[in-house]
Amino acid sequence: MTEAEVTVSSFHRERFPSSFSVTGGKGGTGKSTVAINLAVSFMLDDKKVLLVDADVDSPNIAVLLNVEKRNQRRVTGFLPEFDAGKCSQCGTCVESCRAHALILPEGKPPVLFPEVCTGCEICRYVCPSDAVKEKLKTVGYVYDASYRDIDILMGELELNQMEAVLIVQKLREEVEERLRNQSYDVIIVDTAPGTHCGVMRALEFSNTALPVTEPTPLGAHDLDLILELTKILNIKPFVVLNRSGIGDDSLIREVCEKHSAELISSIPFDMGLFECYAKSIPVVTGKPDSPSARAFKELYGKIRDLVL
Ligand code: SF4
Ligand code: SF4
Repeated sequence: MTEAEVTVSSFHRERFPSSFSVTGGKGGTGKSTVAINLAVSFMLDDKKVLLVDADVDSPNIAVLLNVEKRNQRRVTGFLPEFDAGKCSQCGTCVESCRAHALILPEGKPPVLFPEVCTGCEICRYVCPSDAVKEKLKTVGYVYDASYRDIDILMGELELNQMEAVLIVQKLREEVEERLRNQSYDVIIVDTAPGTHCGVMRALEFSNTALPVTEPTPLGAHDLDLILELTKILNIKPFVVLNRSGIGDDSLIREVCEKHSAELISSIPFDMGLFECYAKSIPVVTGKPDSPSARAFKELYGKIRDLVL
């Protein structure tokens, strides 16, 4: 594995054509499984796919497909360093730090708690004495991988780091860079679960999102939140109900109706899917006649018509 340092630059909000994200209000709904099976369905239809694993807290596409990560690139973020010779101990940076990552011992420059620092750089901007210097820290990595003809780009947050946004931002820059040199028929983005900044940034890759949920009260609650978020971001959602039939599907239909969101697919609970999951094989190729594989194929047809 080779390593090259990369620098994070500004974030752009233009959305990629022929792309969609797979997301979810909560973890464990099968979001990555949906992303993978759709990516493989596009590939089987001779479409060139870029699959982006933007679930940077817990990227699992490489594991689920049993492929090796390669070409590690380091992503760095800001960490403040205080110049004792210039610092007047005014305390402005300490008061301005919303993460409470700084304290000011009497008669000394600020002391930093690096594990709490979000790298926002506010301390640097508010310091009246130019006493805050930049020290780079590693916040995570991006990697390449491939599965058959599918190109995979994935991000991974370093342990104990909190700047998921910087990794997602770097993934975005790398997608833009790739598009300058080659073309893809479709870009599929697997976001982290939840509604935090890293999810928002990943959702903003595309105009279309597939929130994946399950028929439980918690699934309905979290779907409500993610549908609120897609509305705010002006993204068109199409809901995928995974493990349909294991609970009360009407809970999910009610949330969809509330948000006028289409329930585009109900994927049945299917042991064939779990057997393939255990062997790191997508069900659309591992058990193509199983109920879940048939549901994925039907979903694929609808998504293809939506994004291509
Ligand atoms: S970079 Fe932001 S979070 Fe870190 S110490 Fe400075 S103000 Fe606080
Ligand atoms: S704002 Fe600048 S001068 Fe004031 S305590 Fe912080 S580093 Fe020192």
